Amino acid sequence: MFKFDERIKKYSEQALKNISPRFASLDEVTEYNQQKMLKAFIDNNVSESIFAESTGYGYNDRGREIIDRVFAQAVGAEDALVRHNFTCGTHTLTVALFGVLRPGNVMLSVTGRPYDTILPVIGVGSTENENMGSLRNYGIKYDEVALGEDGRIDYEKIEERLRNGPVKMVYIQRSRGYSLRPTVSVAEIKKVVDIAHRYEGTMVMVDNCYGEWTEKLEPTDVGADIIAGSLIKNPGGGIAKTGGYIAGKSKYVEMCAYRMTTPGLGREVGATLGQSRELYMGIFNGPHVVGEALKTAVFTSEIMKLLGFGSTPEAFEDRHDIIEAVKLGREDLLIAFCQGLQKGAPVDSFVTPEPWDMPGYDNKVIMSAGAFTLGSSIELSADAPLREPFAVWLQGGLNFHSAKIAVMYAAQEVLKVLDKDVM
Ligand SMILES: *Cc1c(COP(=O)(O)O)cnc(C)c1O
Repeated sequence: MFKFDERIKKYSEQALKNISPRFASLDEVTEYNQQKMLKAFIDNNVSESIFAESTGYGYNDRGREIIDRVFAQAVGAEDALVRHNFTCGTHTLTVALFGVLRPGNVMLSVTGRPYDTILPVIGVGSTENENMGSLRNYGIKYDEVALGEDGRIDYEKIEERLRNGPVKMVYIQRSRGYSLRPTVSVAEIKKVVDIAHRYEGTMVMVDNCYGEWTEKLEPTDVGADIIAGSLIKNPGGGIAKTGGYIAGKSKYVEMCAYRMTTPGLGREVGATLGQSRELYMGIFNGPHVVGEALKTAVFTSEIMKLLGFGSTPEAFEDRHDIIEAVKLGREDLLIAFCQGLQKGAPVDSFVTPEPWDMPGYDNKVIMSAGAFTLGSSIELSADAPLREPFAVWLQGGLNFHSAKIAVMYAAQEVLKVLDKDVM
């Protein structure tokens, strides 16, 4: 059906053979999480009638109330807010930060500098702007514990900082974002939670983006007080058109609800406008789709290894998010990879991505995305800033059988460039 270079076909077959035991271990996690989700649907009596839309104030929308309970149960939290009204992950995280923090409180990031779009929310560095209404504008202080030289959490430094004065929120970013540091595991999150909870009044928030359903436990299962993420990443299952979630301890979720709408109204309002059915379908499919994305990442790592390129994590390394960083080492190979990946997308396959000057970045960036939902990164996508170490960050894949073709195209385009080298 698809025509590939004989070498690519061979590499693909070899890669699949090499990683078959790895797929078995991924399937085990997927099955566990998918059944956890099914149980949450059954236990909460999800029925077709609750998908009905509400309008106006959206009072007494049972679909909206029950989805919160379903999601909370699935992630091992006391309570949750699952809403299409959250515009993106950054917005959802912002509601959680402003929901919990009060003037004079200290927010302490223990995974170094947070994700780019969170910086204006906090109001650090060049993003400081009194007109934006950042946490800093509201008198909330920010402090940071850098990661160790190995890119891992520095527990001693965290203890040292906590002993030094009151911290309201310890903030963890689980995924690596666009750096090459290792992703934080739920076991490591638990260690931080246990340390933080020894200090009166200190709570833990986790930016859970890209981490959902990659392990059998979520941060809330091991005591994190609040987690938040985007529904056009892992937990929306590629079906939710937009939205986000917050989950955690009842007390904190309630505080976030008052920030999400207004003090007083909280979670009692919010028309679902016919979005409920897709949110339910999306969160239901989340665990399975994450399994497909993980297989895509592992396959990418292995086939690129056969072509001579390193990636992180490697196929058999433990994984805690869906991101795969492939170290191509050269600008032309980076561009070839992204252009090849695009050829295998179900949407916009005919488009050739080119590097461009993206606002907020110092270098040109090239992106490959052929998605049903704009910006959805649970669908197969890749981004690469054109700078050292010339790595591409790949994520997503709604189903492995299709995503595999796109990855083979990416590998083939890389191979074409390498062929020219020797000519
Ligand atoms: C994607 C992401 C965000 C922000 O999400 P958007 O939906 O792009 O606003 C925040 N933190 C991490 C780690 C992310 O991966």
